[in-house]
Amino acid sequence: MRVYNFSAGPSMLPLPVLEKVQANLIDYNGTGMSVMEMSHRSKPYQEINDKAESLLRELLRVPDNYDIIFVQGGGSTQFEAVPLNLTVNGKADYIVTGNFAKKAFKEAAKYTDARCVASSEDKNFTYIPRVKAEDFRKDADYVHICFNNTIYGSHYNYVPETGDIPLVADMSSSILSEEIDVSKFGVIYAGAQKNVGPAGVTIVIVRKDLQDRALPICPTMLKWKTQTEKKSLYNTPPCWSTYVAMEVFAYLKECGGVKAMHETDVAKAAMLYDFIDNSSFYTNNVAKEDRSIMNVPFVSPSPELDAKFVAEAAKAGLVSIKGHRLVGGMRASIYNAMPVEGVKALIEFMKKFEKENA
Ligand SMILES: *Cc1c(COP(=O)(O)O)cnc(C)c1O
Repeated sequence: MRVYNFSAGPSMLPLPVLEKVQANLIDYNGTGMSVMEMSHRSKPYQEINDKAESLLRELLRVPDNYDIIFVQGGGSTQFEAVPLNLTVNGKADYIVTGNFAKKAFKEAAKYTDARCVASSEDKNFTYIPRVKAEDFRKDADYVHICFNNTIYGSHYNYVPETGDIPLVADMSSSILSEEIDVSKFGVIYAGAQKNVGPAGVTIVIVRKDLQDRALPICPTMLKWKTQTEKKSLYNTPPCWSTYVAMEVFAYLKECGGVKAMHETDVAKAAMLYDFIDNSSFYTNNVAKEDRSIMNVPFVSPSPELDAKFVAEAAKAGLVSIKGHRLVGGMRASIYNAMPVEGVKALIEFMKKFEKENA
């Protein structure tokens, strides 16, 4: 039996995609082999690689002056790839809105003069600071933000204005949940295992004019140009993960693309937040205007009840809803693949739990 899996990542994949992948598992399109067994230099894999790229480009309306690559290493490897690829003047400005943003900032400090321009740590990352173009150093090589804060459940409701300074965004937990104007960013990166596909593949969207600035010490494998020049096939790519991601892209397109996903995501999140806000038992502390539609943290009146909630929810088929250790309580990650029914089932369970424990 399938459960409603509220894990922050790896997380649910659309059932039709899992079924399609299952049907293709042993013999992919008459090749007599699985994609897991296939040379990345073979024609069928080249087609998968090309299709993944073109579908993602279409879904996110990525302009022609950007390359899209599929690489290994997760979002975390891009924390170091960003300063290694973009450092010219030796200065980078960071906005710290959560744990991943902080990790990225710390990593950058090894290679460049990284400055924290604004942080929401004063209020335990429950809001997104408002920054203006004047807040950044004029000679900063780039500005880095984490667009959706997976652990704390916050999200930028605006794109910071950085003037001529390239804006770099970690979109690991929000990519494909909303339409974005890619041209406002220099670089966008995202690990797949939240909203795209299996762990192992990481998407990097990088503007072409930003590919000649890598530091001499930048490892070949971390240099974006190494992969943009070879269309993600410089070395063995994460073939299987990229293949499944391609099937997810195809499925999203069939479902009406990112706009349709966003409408459903907003509706799912609104249902859950409305319920929490109208309850005197559950609380979400994130500033309303900065709330994530992907990750919804909440608490009950006590840590003991939180633990009981998590245990009983699992028995009811609502699994992996324990909050991150930095926040405690619960966190419902409701990415694209979480059906509306899953959110409804969660709310029904929350009502029942409140009645029994209030
Ligand atoms: C999960 C996550 C990461 C880390 O991703 P890995 O693939 O585990 O390295 C980075 N940033 C954000 C926003 C995330 O949600």
